[in-house]
Amino acid sequence: MGAGGLQALVKGGLDPRGKRIVLAGSGPLLLAVAAGLASVGAVVAGIYEQAPISKLAGFALTLLAHPAKLVEGGRYWLKTMHAPYRTGTWIVHAEGRGRVERVTLRDGRKTWGVECDWLGCGFHIVPNLELPRLLGCRTVAGYVEVDRLQNTSVARVACVGELTGIGGLEKALVEGQIAGLSAAGRERDALRLVPQRQRLQQFAHRLDRAFALRSELRTLAQANTVVCRCEDVTHSALQGCASWRQAKLHTRCGMGACQGRVCGSATEFLFDWENQNTRPPIFPAAVSTLAIKP
Ligand SMILES: Cc1cc2nc3c(=O)[nH]c(=O)nc-3n(C[C@H](O)[C@H](O)[C@H](O)COP(=O)(O)OP(=O)(O)OC[C@H]3O[C@@H](n4cnc5c(N)ncnc54)[C@H](O)[C@@H]3O)c2cc1C
Repeated sequence: MGAGGLQALVKGGLDPRGKRIVLAGSGPLLLAVAAGLASVGAVVAGIYEQAPISKLAGFALTLLAHPAKLVEGGRYWLKTMHAPYRTGTWIVHAEGRGRVERVTLRDGRKTWGVECDWLGCGFHIVPNLELPRLLGCRTVAGYVEVDRLQNTSVARVACVGELTGIGGLEKALVEGQIAGLSAAGRERDALRLVPQRQRLQQFAHRLDRAFALRSELRTLAQANTVVCRCEDVTHSALQGCASWRQAKLHTRCGMGACQGRVCGSATEFLFDWENQNTRPPIFPAAVSTLAIKP
């Protein structure tokens, strides 16, 4: 399962007690999910972070300037300190008969297996850019470009939170306050929050750098690895395509129920394709919804 999806399922009532769970991928979400699972009785069989220790050490120093994040990190560490935590390690595959029984991991020098019941896998977080793209907002390096009052390149459209950089709840809240105050004509009050926002934006930039995906991950997919789950499109089927658009036309990749929300970012990483196309309705809608009369 996706690491965030696993967290959501457990919050929704899935019982993880006694299950041996491996968390693998990248980003602080792995730790947060591991801590949550451990506190409700799961056995965290290992946390495997693909980023190397050299990058994480630099990032850990950044936390000194963010006491709230440091405390949050400390809480996660206390709850997961008994679980193996390995950096510079990535998952190669998962196997089992009918369900996951074992995962294979690699650290660049050696490859080994770990027995488990469940696997939570996640490679950091990507913003959901459909709405701003549909509105025509300019994006730079995968995020919506905003000015210091959170205005986008489109008049009267502001943007906050994950769309402007992955930085967690605190950043999203401050940006929301700035946009709200500005929209209410209280620009001076909004500007007072700008230094706090800048500090949190720096944190977001460092987070992006520290957990950048290593190039080895591009070589993990096999010819029969399913890249687009909705339309069952394999890695080999995509190899002859030159762009996201061509892939859609030739293979139906990204044309199923999720509309590229999952495979779009995967193909961006695997093939360097840009997935800029957004069409309404953003989410699949039932005919009955569309048929509602005003
Ligand atoms: C699994 C997971 C765990 C996390 N854990 C932590 C944590 O422990 N600590 C932390 O600081 N941060 C955590 N984060 C990050 C945190 O959730 C975000 O930083 C924060 O929620 C960002 O706020 P936001 O307003 O940008 O986005 P969101 O909170 O995602 O809000 C966006 C809203 O827009 C709505 N929306 C989207 N598209 C449409 C549409 N087309 N039409 C109508 N509505 C739409 C969504 O339904 C959603 O309600 C976690 C994120 C994930 C995914």
